[in-house]
Order: sequence, then C-alpha cells, then structure tokens
Amino acid sequence: MREIFRHRDHTIVSFYGEMLEAEGIPVMFRNLHLAMSGLSEIPIAEFYPNICVMRDEDFLSAWEVLRRAMHENAVGSDREVECGGCGEKNPGNFDFCFSCREELRGD
Ligand SMILES: [Zn+2]
Repeated sequence: MREIFRHRDHTIVSFYGEMLEAEGIPVMFRNLHLAMSGLSEIPIAEFYPNICVMRDEDFLSAWEVLRRAMHENAVGSDREVECGGCGEKNPGNFDFCFSCREELRGD
C-alpha cells in the first residue's frame, strides 16, 4: 500500500479517490472521517485526508490518472502554481505539490 495523494479538502480527496476506483484501481482513504468531522481544520498536514493505492504496482498508473485529471481541472479555473522543488505545475488551489509534496507558495 502506498500513499498517492493528500489534501486538506476531503471533497477533493474523495473526488480523486473515486476517480481512481472508476479506473479499476483499488484505493483506501485515510483520515477522511477525521476531515469530515472538521478536525482537519487544524493545519497539520499529517492529519490531512489522503488516498493510498492498495497495490504498489498500481502506483504509476494511478499517478498518471491523477496528473491528467489535475491538469484538466486546472485549465480555465485557478492559475497554475509551479513547484519550487521539482518544477511541476500544480492547480492553484493546491497546498502541496502533487508530484514531490513540496509546500507550494503561490504568492
Ligand atoms: Zn514538486
């Protein structure tokens, strides 16, 4: 099992997790109920809801699904934020780089 995505907004975590399941990739959610009860208002990334792929061998294909979806969602909505760590472009509403998990500083 391997974590693939983490975000403080549980609706976004659910959205991408369900997208992976729709692609036939089994996932497990962690901290989702914690988030829904409002406890993740505490701004500690450790407690953010996250998605794990159940099988390590699914990680790369799952990552491709997420990358594609995130880039599509970023088009025409928020500005993109370039990661200072790896140069990957992230949707503007993300707190952490989805590629290397470096904290994003948009402004
Ligand atoms: Zn990065």
